[in-house]
Amino acid sequence: MNVADSELVASILEQNDFTIVDNIDDAEIIIFNTCSVRQHAEDRVMGRISNEISRKNSNKQLKIGVIGCMAQRLGKKLQEQNEKIDFVVGTDRYKKLPEIITNLFKNPGFRSDTVVNNKEIYEDLYPIHTGKLNAFVTIMRGCNNFCSYCIVPYVRGRERSRNAEDIINDVHKTGEQGFKDVTLLGQNVNSYNYKGIDFAELLRRVNKIETVKRIRFVTSHPKDLSDEVIEVMANSEKVCEHLHLAMQSGDDEILSRMNRGYTAKHYYSIVQKLRKAMPDIAITTDVIAGFPGETQAQFQQTYDLMKKIEFDYAFTFKYSPREGTKAAEFNDHILEETRLDRLQQLINLQQDITLKKYQDQIGKIKEIYVEKVSKKSIHELAGKSRDFKITVFKGDKSLIGTFVNVKITDAVGWTLKGKIVK
Ligand code: SF4
Repeated sequence: MNVADSELVASILEQNDFTIVDNIDDAEIIIFNTCSVRQHAEDRVMGRISNEISRKNSNKQLKIGVIGCMAQRLGKKLQEQNEKIDFVVGTDRYKKLPEIITNLFKNPGFRSDTVVNNKEIYEDLYPIHTGKLNAFVTIMRGCNNFCSYCIVPYVRGRERSRNAEDIINDVHKTGEQGFKDVTLLGQNVNSYNYKGIDFAELLRRVNKIETVKRIRFVTSHPKDLSDEVIEVMANSEKVCEHLHLAMQSGDDEILSRMNRGYTAKHYYSIVQKLRKAMPDIAITTDVIAGFPGETQAQFQQTYDLMKKIEFDYAFTFKYSPREGTKAAEFNDHILEETRLDRLQQLINLQQDITLKKYQDQIGKIKEIYVEKVSKKSIHELAGKSRDFKITVFKGDKSLIGTFVNVKITDAVGWTLKGKIVK
């Protein structure tokens, strides 16, 4: 989402005669687009801001700004943390950036604008896609779910869906520009609804766009993933066989305290439906270890469900309290060392499952979208399969941007190796 927002901000600035430079040394303005989802992300960006601010010693005109969720969350307080920050602009105020920056050069002095606008959808803006061959198209903004651990609804406001026609036009244009793999983006894409067009219908329409070859979407919420969406996924040739579906916990009481709106049984039933409709689908997930009050038995439920489901990959996190959320106020936070220990157990489990899942691919022929020369050898190329697995194989770089069939011969960690076949 932040990559997509950075592309949007780049577009707003370029339309107002600013130029995006390739090299930070040439910049007169540096803007940090920030994430608040975990404390770690915030700490890292403050470190990065401190590093770049030292550039002001040799470039007195340099302006430093902070945008995104952390800007929205902390507003003026950010300047208290680092007085050399020149401006802070929240997630709904990006259209104001040109004016704020221009005024700053005329009349220096800290500026902050974090006014919430729950209707802002930036619908008349086409972002500058910075990916080489893959592009993100935002279909909605905000979230209404208020999962008890999550800061997003507070910093990104209420859910609103973009005009379906604008989305279709953007995907079409994106494909024309050479991006053949497009990801539809939203905090909870399954609750997309624009004047009666729901996500299943949107997917059907996007699937008909001739200029793109692959369609993906993130993020899906288990409580809103309908049977109809699964059916459309299975029957739409461009919609890839990969779904990221956050599980978060395998215990019903913890899921309820997280305010997730589904049970472990329901989650498992969706996995079964997905695999029945698309036997080769890759399912990835997010899981939180050590949520407040999580007992050893409840953690075990999560562990056991992950083992039973066998995700292709899981993003596992230890619980991180976010000030302002309901869970941060729970009075039964568990010890950091217990959280870390449980996290490590989940990581170890998933590593074994991922390796097994990847080894299961050996012998299969997969269609790969060739994206780049491999980092490890100039004679090898790297790309992704429809089920989102990085695959490396010998080939000439003229193949970049094309689709090739690759027979998988090996699995090394989270990378498949293979050779091109006709
Ligand atoms: S669905 Fe839950 S976890 Fe996802 S953004 Fe909304 S509140 Fe956060």
